[in-house]
Amino acid sequence: MKYVYLFNEGNKDMRNLLGGKGANLAEMTNIGLPVPRGFTITTEACTKYYEDGRTVAKEIETEIFNKLEELEKTTGKKLGDKDNPLLVSVRSGARASMPGMMDTVLNLGLNDEVAAGFAKATNNPRFAYDSYRRFIQMFSDVVKGYPKASFERYFDEFKEKKGVKYDTDLTAEDMIEVTKRFKENYKELSNEEFPQDPKVQLLEAVKAVFRSWMNERAMIYRRLNDIPAEWGTAVNVQEMVYGNRGETSGTGVAFTRNPSTGEKKLYGEYLINAQGEDVVAGIRTPQDISTLEQVMPEIYKQFTDICNILEKHYRDMQDMEFTIEDGKLFMLQTRNGKRTAGAAIKVAVDLVSEGMITKEEALMKVEPRQLDQLLHPAFDHEALKKIAPIAKGLAASPGAATGKIYFSAEDISAKKGAGEKKLILVRLETSPEDIEGMNDASGILTIRGGMTSHAAVVARGMGRCCVCGCGELKIDEINKTLQTASGDIFKEGDFISLDGSTGNVYAGEMKTNEPEISGDFSTFMSWADEVRTLKIRANADNKRDATQAKKFGAEGIGLCRTEHMFFEEDRIFNFRKMITAETEEQRERALEDILPYQRSDFEELFKAMAPYPVTIRYLDPPLHEFLPHTDEEIRPLAEALGMTFEKLKERVEDLKEFNPMMGHRGCRLAITYPEIARMQTRAVIEAAINVNKEGLNVEPEIMIPLVGEVKELKFVKNIVVEVADEIIKKNNANLKYTVGTMIEIPRAALTADKIAEEADFFSFGTNDLTQMTYGFSRDDAAKFLDYYYSTQVFESDPFTKLDQEGVGQLAKIASEKGRNVKPNLKLGICGEHGGDPSSIDFCYKLGLNYVSCSPFRVPVARLAAAHSKLNDK
Ligand code: PEP
Ligand code: MG
Repeated sequence: MKYVYLFNEGNKDMRNLLGGKGANLAEMTNIGLPVPRGFTITTEACTKYYEDGRTVAKEIETEIFNKLEELEKTTGKKLGDKDNPLLVSVRSGARASMPGMMDTVLNLGLNDEVAAGFAKATNNPRFAYDSYRRFIQMFSDVVKGYPKASFERYFDEFKEKKGVKYDTDLTAEDMIEVTKRFKENYKELSNEEFPQDPKVQLLEAVKAVFRSWMNERAMIYRRLNDIPAEWGTAVNVQEMVYGNRGETSGTGVAFTRNPSTGEKKLYGEYLINAQGEDVVAGIRTPQDISTLEQVMPEIYKQFTDICNILEKHYRDMQDMEFTIEDGKLFMLQTRNGKRTAGAAIKVAVDLVSEGMITKEEALMKVEPRQLDQLLHPAFDHEALKKIAPIAKGLAASPGAATGKIYFSAEDISAKKGAGEKKLILVRLETSPEDIEGMNDASGILTIRGGMTSHAAVVARGMGRCCVCGCGELKIDEINKTLQTASGDIFKEGDFISLDGSTGNVYAGEMKTNEPEISGDFSTFMSWADEVRTLKIRANADNKRDATQAKKFGAEGIGLCRTEHMFFEEDRIFNFRKMITAETEEQRERALEDILPYQRSDFEELFKAMAPYPVTIRYLDPPLHEFLPHTDEEIRPLAEALGMTFEKLKERVEDLKEFNPMMGHRGCRLAITYPEIARMQTRAVIEAAINVNKEGLNVEPEIMIPLVGEVKELKFVKNIVVEVADEIIKKNNANLKYTVGTMIEIPRAALTADKIAEEADFFSFGTNDLTQMTYGFSRDDAAKFLDYYYSTQVFESDPFTKLDQEGVGQLAKIASEKGRNVKPNLKLGICGEHGGDPSSIDFCYKLGLNYVSCSPFRVPVARLAAAHSKLNDK
């Protein structure tokens, strides 16, 4: 097994083995671009590191040092040599890019002796010791886990003592002193001297990068982005080039197109006399890339030429890191740039019209889950014209957000956990530790940092609205206040609004507009529809949701939960009357009152969705969800039912269940109270007859929930057919309808051949099927699943991403058994998983006819279904 590859031994197609960064460094080397030399330790070495109990095997260690020797030969420099030292960077690089999630060490190879020699050899002691102090800090942070803050505090105090603002204002002597202090700090923290052997430094750094694969923020990022832990990360060891060598040196990051809007224009930032981490950390405010044309015209020309080469080569927008050392340009990275969903669509559509890619390739360039960003509200344009912003920052990630401000990621997550929805995270700048809070916030505002700062990059990836670098606001993170230039103060819990498309910040809560699909987005989605074969339906119970779903391209309703129709004030009362009734007669009377509501709801739904099919699911939930809880609710109900308060209270107590999710619900309700199923059938059939009189051609699909035994289905179906046929006959109507069932109990899946004999269709209720298969409650699991993630028992939430191995196996058995009996049995899914791309792919492979998801997920599902089809070719 080969674990280490020189850059010239790899290529861009080896990303599984070399990681994205390693594969692209190899590719750039091969096409002759100026890339500092180096080698990549493979992702397989990382996997082995974990298999071997977090140790680097001897054979891998030997291979690393062999490649190091080769690198020393080609560069003519030697690690640890005081006269002509080789210094390297050690960077992570996984298969999928995970910006800022894992660790990097720069300037590795410096020690006291080498630094002194390096100062002499370069004739630039300031630069040598600037590099050494950076190395000590990074090594301490990444390898040892000592807080960066303890070093930064020294550094800030030192600058203050010297009366300077920027690191670039410090002299060589200053840097020597800082280095000394940093080493002392290291010793205090670790009780040992800073390691002087460069080979030890190298191995420790490699291990630290492997370890960072399992740090908490990387694990959270993987869960949010569906990246498996088994992939591991590669490690790139590369000869250092120095952007901190003086005024003719610098470093920067750039995109070949605007990652926020997709506009075809070079976009990026750079800093003179700095190293890479300075740009991202927002320590000094970087310059716009366009100004490089004046500062270094030749470099700028060479750089833009390289941008063109790379874009053509990869046939996609590139995100590049570069360093200029003493007037010479080096490329340190290129990758397909992360972009907002809006930009992703524009770039994909533009690349097709530029003739660079096909429509199919364009479809594959957009991640389905990313579309979510485009399906969220924006501020009303007219309302915006009328109010003045309180501040303006950089438009880092588009969208609109309004919410209460909090000053730490933890506070945001706590508020979210307590049920608050509108939250804005306000920070001086964000760091990778903030990732969970950033995900929980509706918007992010930072005071420092540019368009490529951590906040900006991460927010764009998540689709969170973000305004960053809003320096005109003053933040006090200790006292939790935000002050505007005109002196207004906002405290924790106050509302502000952010426009991530303009960078404007507004006071107070603002109204937002619903999103729509038009322009490039609509073109793009039509390409997805041309390709896909899986139908997409929506879960919707009312006209508003059905209309929204249709706008987003739904081709029917896969689940109408009829119980949701009863939550409104006047309806819930009648519903409670029905469920607390003691006699059949009382119940029938209550049902009579419910019938007209139910019928007109169905009429609206049929009309909103026409000409597409609508699946109506009969009453399902545990009744406790509807029980009156307080005495104030019980009293009027008792009166209406002609019962005493005490009697009704007793009845309510009677109806309570220990385990309602496995209690009196689903088809069990229709079996104990057939009059409910009768009323629902009457409502569905009469509604369909009524709307068909208006010229529609509705064929209702009636769905019986929670069936585990075919006789349950048969029992309820008999009621449905009897009532339906009688009404159809009486009305002399020519109405077709079907009766099917949900498959959401393991027993139903295992006996699907029997059930199929009675069912016209199956719809997988994977919420309950997951609950029943794992045996943990869908209402309570979140409480302990966090521990499952942190202990790596689970990588993801099985209620979000289908457990293909277990629950999926049941779905497979049911599909096969069902279609053995009825080859044309219609199959769908209506659990939450119907909107999750990897689960959709599984459904496609199972041969389902459709997936049904929430209205806002419909475009995501359309694209995911197109991806499945394209991947299957
Ligand atoms: C399911 O169980 O997957 C389902 C769609 O039904 P509900 O969520 O209403 O129980
Ligand atoms: Mg269910």
